[in-house]
Amino acid sequence: MELMSWVRGASFSLLALAGLLAGGCGKTATTGPEGGQKATPAAATDDHSGWWCIEHGVPEEICAQCNTKLAAEYQQKGDWCKEHNRPESQCFLCNPKRAEKFAAEYEAKYGKKPPKPEGT
Ligand SMILES: [Zn+2]
Ligand SMILES: [Zn+2]
Repeated sequence: MELMSWVRGASFSLLALAGLLAGGCGKTATTGPEGGQKATPAAATDDHSGWWCIEHGVPEEICAQCNTKLAAEYQQKGDWCKEHNRPESQCFLCNPKRAEKFAAEYEAKYGKKPPKPEGT
């Protein structure tokens, strides 16, 4: 019985912590990348401060794999691939053609092809 109450107490404080974190996030939704400190612009590395998410091959502002708040929004809209844990509209694993659409956006902006996403 003692164990039971300990487990309940522990999960309770976890819940409280999660609530705290969620609440804190809501207030600072528009402040951009967490950490606050902007690194000097570096085109070659993906520090997620630029327009393009090299890692995931989509613009940062819609990259649900980098932004959990965005992910929640996509999930609410029903635009979500459960299998690959990302928005269906950004799931290049289900449909590689989707990557081309985002790559075209990049190309229109920079006049060159985007860097190859990692780990795909
Ligand atoms: Zn990303
Ligand atoms: Zn998928």
